[in-house]
Amino acid sequence: MKFGGTSVGGPERMECVAEILASRIETSEITAVVSAMGGVTDMLVRAATEASRGDREHWKGVRAELARRHREVADRSLSAAEQAVVLPRLAEYMRDFENLCSGFSLVREVTPRAMDTLSSLGELMSATLVAAILRSQGHKAEAVDAAEIIVTDEAFGNASPLMDETTPKARSRLAPLRRSGAVPVMTGFRGATRDGQTTTLGRGGSDYSATIIGAALDADEVWIWSDVDGVMTADPRLVPGARIIPEISYREAIELSFFGAKVLHPKTIQPVMKKKIPVWIKNSFNPSCVGTKICAAAQNGQAGAKAITSVSDAVLVTMNGKDSLSFPRLATRVFNGLHLEDVTTLMATQSSAENVLCFAIRQSELPRVKARLEKTFELEILHEYVGVLEVVPKVAVVVVVGEKMKGTPGIAGRAFGALGKRGINLIAIAQGSSELSISFAVKASEVKEAVQAVHDEFEL
Ligand code: ASP
Ligand code: MG
Repeated sequence: MKFGGTSVGGPERMECVAEILASRIETSEITAVVSAMGGVTDMLVRAATEASRGDREHWKGVRAELARRHREVADRSLSAAEQAVVLPRLAEYMRDFENLCSGFSLVREVTPRAMDTLSSLGELMSATLVAAILRSQGHKAEAVDAAEIIVTDEAFGNASPLMDETTPKARSRLAPLRRSGAVPVMTGFRGATRDGQTTTLGRGGSDYSATIIGAALDADEVWIWSDVDGVMTADPRLVPGARIIPEISYREAIELSFFGAKVLHPKTIQPVMKKKIPVWIKNSFNPSCVGTKICAAAQNGQAGAKAITSVSDAVLVTMNGKDSLSFPRLATRVFNGLHLEDVTTLMATQSSAENVLCFAIRQSELPRVKARLEKTFELEILHEYVGVLEVVPKVAVVVVVGEKMKGTPGIAGRAFGALGKRGINLIAIAQGSSELSISFAVKASEVKEAVQAVHDEFEL
């Protein structure tokens, strides 16, 4: 069971987590994974960044706030005996915070490696507190640092697990605890390289921690507790009538999280997919709600579209290879440029005999991409062998997702027909042969109406 930042956001919330865990201790062997208290990771990252810019004061304010929030939980939710154990430990973490930040402000730099050590302190503190709350209530529990278990590569800030090394560590560290009836409360987000350097799994990575551990332990299920009732048919801010989906497939879930539906860290599904371990999305604020089950063969209520997601801060970039650059050559060089900038595309299309390549990326990545491609094609653009980079700003990419769209004729027709009826113009369209999703670009100002139109059309 993994609990996100809002689920451990304060004393009452952490007590709810303890209650959810405690109610199942008798009947199941549970491993808990916790995020930092809501907002804490942002504060840590900001403190490090400001310190590295030479600000010697900002982090002191953060220190006070962090100490206050964690101390409040200790004061309100722990027995006196547990306070005696936990308060010195929290003080140690705060000293680490101070030492790191004052170091960053002196050298005016923070390396990705040092950032990982600092940014994951929140998880160490929340795991310490949740385990102590359970013990205060008479249950057996132990806080476990995932850096002792999850072995990762050296991609600091966005590390990936090495499962062959992680699996035996997870078993030898966690199985004895679980057998003795104790709940291991593990830090999310954190891991460590083979030689013990702390890494993190990327922002929002505690979901990923949970499925990594679930796969390593051959868990029956992974439950992800957040603050929403489940995966929804659309963003409820765009579509007020959006509903919870009872079951979706792994592939649908991956598709949805890649395109910005904030349900899961995009890599979350990978570890459990091969082992077919189901993942549940549940709401810790509404624990009796069943939530959404993500599994291999999801029961689909209806053929066709299942959910709609969108990215509304996108731009479309078009490059024209004209007669001189074949499409494969143009694409090779363009995508190599994107790869070098570590930019992923939201959609891409090839059109017409003129070798025109069009792709969508996030607005924030445009300056880097533009500079890179103008450099890559400097000569060709100068001699007009290649058309200048055209950019359509303020675009939204809408993605209609559903495994059962495959082989069902008329889905695209219905989706686009619904847009046409509302006078919404499609700027670009893409669908691959997997037919798992149909993507299209519209004006950002029309995204709400577009998503609503498709939602209505498929009666989601
Ligand atoms: N605390 C980390 C973050 O905010 C990891 C997580 O919450 O999943 O990114
Ligand atoms: Mg979080």
